[in-house]
Amino acid sequence: SNQKSVYNFNAGPSALPREVLEKAQSELVDFKESGMSIMEMSHRSATYEQVHNQAIERLRSLFAIPENYEVLFLQGGASLQFAMVPMNFLAEGKKASYIMSGAWSDKALKEAKTIGEVYEAASTKDVNYNRVPSSEEITFEETDAYVHITSNNTIFGTQFHDFPSTGNVPLIADMSSDILSRPIDVSKFGMIYAGAQKNLGPSGVTVAIIRKDLLDHANSGIPAILKYSTHSSSNSLYNTPPSFGIYMLGEVLGWMQQQGGLEKIAKRNEEKANLIYDVIDNSNGFYTGHAEKGSRSLMNITFRVADEELEKQFLQEAKEAGFVGLNGHRSVGGCRASAYNAVPVEACQALQKFMLDFQEKCK
Ligand code: PLP
Repeated sequence: SNQKSVYNFNAGPSALPREVLEKAQSELVDFKESGMSIMEMSHRSATYEQVHNQAIERLRSLFAIPENYEVLFLQGGASLQFAMVPMNFLAEGKKASYIMSGAWSDKALKEAKTIGEVYEAASTKDVNYNRVPSSEEITFEETDAYVHITSNNTIFGTQFHDFPSTGNVPLIADMSSDILSRPIDVSKFGMIYAGAQKNLGPSGVTVAIIRKDLLDHANSGIPAILKYSTHSSSNSLYNTPPSFGIYMLGEVLGWMQQQGGLEKIAKRNEEKANLIYDVIDNSNGFYTGHAEKGSRSLMNITFRVADEELEKQFLQEAKEAGFVGLNGHRSVGGCRASAYNAVPVEACQALQKFMLDFQEKCK
């Protein structure tokens, strides 16, 4: 093949497993001898329905989702969930508590403010979100509608390694940038949601996992399309679903099963991230990590190079060497390597070597 070879460290949309892309390519025009592409088919056809249900089943199985949770495929990205969550679950006279650990929690909070009463459960904004709040810092009231948390902070490169216990108050998590990167006890959450475009597939699909009893008590006076119950009662086929995206998501989940499931994937993610963190920690200050060690993300590794001129040079040379997506987000600056599930170990090894060589050269 004459495809350019790159190391894709994009923050999202991001790398997909090569094998999945090739399988999709082979099935693109004629899906299972139907004479049609999956994206040309009726979403009411038996063939599509099988793809749809298989994706749900794979997600249930990989993530060990208990029976009393619904799995929904929605559109509008994680950003629409910032609005749908309070629309459905923030009842009048109640408050919702938001754990502030980065720019995405901030967006979630701002959106919820337009719907009802919200407050901050904790915030690490004063330290430019270089760590996540500890469980002791988090406050909420027993009467709150829910507590909202961002499990992985894509921009700042921090991640919750433990989740606060919220008792009877449902914990609702935006897991957009670390869903299925590690095993999680789903039963600790009232709801989990994630845009697909990092660990799950292409953009255009949003996964929502919701405890069924919450659906029964959700607000009713909202448009049908924005109600979770509308989608749960129609198996996410209320209107035309993003069928090609759901097909791709199912294939990515199939790939994850072939990799041996979440324990194996988590172990590999740890190995990958540590290749980069080791360089940072052993660089005598040439590279500095943004996140405090206890809050480091295994998905997004944020760091800076000793001085600004060298940093520019680092990014330029990395680009020339085939590393894609290493520029940090403007609010943190510097560099960010996103090593989601589909980023191979070899890409992280190559980046490790590049960083070591660059430092050596700059001596
Ligand atoms: N939440 C987190 C943690 C994210 O990283 C992102 C996107 O990068 C979003 C929400 C927004 O997702 P979307 O673009 O799907 O609305």
